[in-house]
Amino acid sequence: MTPSLKLNKNQEIQQLKDTSYTTRRPTVPALEEVLYDPFPVLDYGFIRVIDYMGDDGAIVQAARVSYGKGTKMVSEDRGLINYLMRHHHSTPFEMCEIKFHVKLPIFVARQWIRHRTANVNEYSARYSILDKEFYMPNPDQLAAQSATNRQGRGQVLEGKDATRVLDLLREDALRAYDHYEEMLNEDASGNILDPNRPGLARELARMNLPTNYYTQWYWKIDLHNFMHFISLRADSHAQYEIRVYAEVLREILKMWLPLTYEAFID
Ligand SMILES: Cc1cc2nc3c(=O)[nH]c(=O)nc-3n(C[C@H](O)[C@H](O)[C@H](O)COP(=O)(O)OP(=O)(O)OC[C@H]3O[C@@H](n4cnc5c(N)ncnc54)[C@H](O)[C@@H]3O)c2cc1C
Repeated sequence: MTPSLKLNKNQEIQQLKDTSYTTRRPTVPALEEVLYDPFPVLDYGFIRVIDYMGDDGAIVQAARVSYGKGTKMVSEDRGLINYLMRHHHSTPFEMCEIKFHVKLPIFVARQWIRHRTANVNEYSARYSILDKEFYMPNPDQLAAQSATNRQGRGQVLEGKDATRVLDLLREDALRAYDHYEEMLNEDASGNILDPNRPGLARELARMNLPTNYYTQWYWKIDLHNFMHFISLRADSHAQYEIRVYAEVLREILKMWLPLTYEAFID
């Protein structure tokens, strides 16, 4: 269980997993197996697959504009998918879609949202109170500014330098959350702190929280743009904190569409 998934959330997930539907549409057993499960990322984050449309055969079917399933033989499908990928014949890949529930630090969400070709619905901090969960880097990720790359990290901080940074991050995040609760006049569970004074509106109180606090969203994207996202964000130039999400997404792609994954990695 990731720390951010409380007991009742696990029960909700189990209920979803215990429910099944019959369908005439192709499904992918490997993805069905992990549907709704949280893949942990960073300290409180996760990625859950909520829904998907299409399999490798759907790409072949669309490319051939076929009346049938599209699949003749795996070797033929593999060849065609490789050909499409190599020649940037991208529209057949847009026939598949996938929907995720993602929990991520706000500063990672700011990079992620730049990918405009997805559909997003974010947790509303105007309506709800944000969880008291903030990202703290592992000590091996606490690096100094790179001397050669203005967008990168250099030597890992050690000893008292690392301890001081971790202390500052923790203190700032906790103090900001205390002030958030004080302004709201509510705690994280929604209990009123002082019945004799009004709280500030949630849409305003949230503004003092640092960007290492976690937000959540549903994110739906077609396969073409999904691969584009992975290729940019699983790349070594991407910041570690978004790269680890992209690496999980790449593993999910492998489970979902093994032939497409092979061609993509090639
Ligand atoms: C390593 C790295 C460093 C970065 N640094 C910065 C930075 O310093 N500052 C910053 O602001 N951003 C930065 N970005 C974000 C980057 O500029 C892109 O905004 C982000 O990667 C989304 O890429 P995209 O536009 O290709 O994706 P999407 O928005 O998903 O678009 C996918 C594709 O659709 C097409 N498309 C979408 N919208 C349009 C449009 N309006 N017009 C024409 N074609 C369109 C393009 O072909 C595009 O590649 C960085 C990204 C990376 C990976």
